[in-house]
Amino acid sequence: LLNVDKNAKTIKGRKKNFVTGILYLAPARESGYQTCSSSSPGCRISCLYGSGRSLMFPAIKEARIRKTKMFFEQRKEFMLMLEKDIEKLISYGKKNNFNVVCRLNGTSNIFWERISFESSDGKNYNNIMERFPNVQFYDYTKHSTHKNLPKNYHITFSLSENNEHHARKAIENNMNIAVVFRNKNLPKEYLGLRVISGDEDDIRPLDPKGVCVGLYAKGAAKADRSGFVKDI
Ligand code: SF4
Repeated sequence: LLNVDKNAKTIKGRKKNFVTGILYLAPARESGYQTCSSSSPGCRISCLYGSGRSLMFPAIKEARIRKTKMFFEQRKEFMLMLEKDIEKLISYGKKNNFNVVCRLNGTSNIFWERISFESSDGKNYNNIMERFPNVQFYDYTKHSTHKNLPKNYHITFSLSENNEHHARKAIENNMNIAVVFRNKNLPKEYLGLRVISGDEDDIRPLDPKGVCVGLYAKGAAKADRSGFVKDI
């Protein structure tokens, strides 16, 4: 299920001694199931899903749809498989002296903290973070309703063309926000926060608090005129 450093950005994390496992599901309603209930028209068009390898290789898109259907239709098997993949990632990290980070919403926006499951040893866990307390999980999110996040789950609020009020609330609650800019030269400040580049690597849990993570528009996002990509 997990894609391990096959992504141009996560591989950069190796320089900081991190190995990253990412789960890519099908976004929005692409699989017939909703995985992004807070998405906007602009983000859906610009979504990473419509860029890079998934555009070139239809098999990648099909695999993401298959995995998403499995998540909804065979949850027990899916979670056991995910558990196994994370165990393998941990072993790989130990062997090669990497810290392990895991991003489960590579191209989806599921409330992972709410997904309870029974692990292979028969124990019940409130979520996958509780099962792996020494793994740092992270995601970008457009939901404003995350509550009681596990300590090892870091989230960055992601700005769209229609959720600035939620982004301002997120800032008040000490969350960082991520913003996609059209210009490679990022502004110094946005929504009152210092802007840092989010393209150097994807290890968001290392970001300082109280910043705006600036991302340069890629793929379909370059043509966005919805307001999702900011022109500043
Ligand atoms: S919420 Fe995120 S994953 Fe979902 S469609 Fe928008 S950009 Fe893509």
